[in-house]
Amino acid sequence: MSIAENITILLQEIPQHVQLVAVSKTKSNEEIMQAYNAGQRVFGENKIQDMTRKQEELPKDIQWHMIGHVQSNKVKYMAPYVDLIHGVDSPKLLKEINKQAQKNNRIIPCLLQIHIAQEESKFGFSAEECHQTIQMATALPHVQIKGLMGMATFTEDQKQIAQEFVGLKALYDQLIEQNIPLEILSMGMSGDYPLAIAQGSNMIRVGSKIFGPRNY
Ligand SMILES: *Cc1c(COP(=O)(O)O)cnc(C)c1O
Repeated sequence: MSIAENITILLQEIPQHVQLVAVSKTKSNEEIMQAYNAGQRVFGENKIQDMTRKQEELPKDIQWHMIGHVQSNKVKYMAPYVDLIHGVDSPKLLKEINKQAQKNNRIIPCLLQIHIAQEESKFGFSAEECHQTIQMATALPHVQIKGLMGMATFTEDQKQIAQEFVGLKALYDQLIEQNIPLEILSMGMSGDYPLAIAQGSNMIRVGSKIFGPRNY
C-alpha cells in the first residue's frame, strides 16, 4: 500500500474530531510529499535539526509539530515556525520556550507531557507537577498550554494500555473542570491509536502505519 493510500484509509477510519499528526521522523522529503499530495498538512518530528531542515525545504503550509524530547538550548531553532510542541516536560523548558517565543513575537502552543507509562525511561510530569506547571505558565505570556500528551507503556497488554489512557483522560477532564481551557489530548500511535481514541484522544501521532517501518 502506498503512503497516500495509508493516509486516505486512516482519515476514513478515525472520527472527524480526531486530528492526525503524520510522524515523518527519519523519512525523506519525497515520502513526506507523498503524504502532502494526499492532503496531509500536519507532520511530527522528534529532532529539531531534521524538522528545521524539512521546514526550510518543504511547502510552507505544512504545520510542524515537535513530538520528541526537547533540549532547552535547541528551542531557538524551531521557535520561529513550530506549530505545536507536544513534549514539554519541565518548567525550565517551558520558560525557555516562552523566552524564544517572545523573541519571535509569537505565542507558542504547547502540550504538557504526562508520565503515564510504567517504564522509568519515559519523560513527563506527574499529575501534581502538571497542576503546578499550569499555574506557573500563567506568568509566561508567550506560551499557551493547549493540552496534554502521553505515551503508553510499550506492551502487548491492551488492558494496561487502556488503563493508562483512561488515567490521562481523567486528568485532562479534571483540569477542564477547573476551568483550564484545554482542547488537545494527544495520545495514540500506530500500535494503539484505536484504543486511545476510544478513551478520548483527539490527536493521534501515527508514523509507521503511514510511512512503513523506520530504519534508524
Ligand atoms: C515515533 C513516535 C510516534 C509514532 O510512532 P509509530 O509507532 O511509528 O506510529 C508517536 N509519538 C512519538 C512521541 C514518537 O516518538
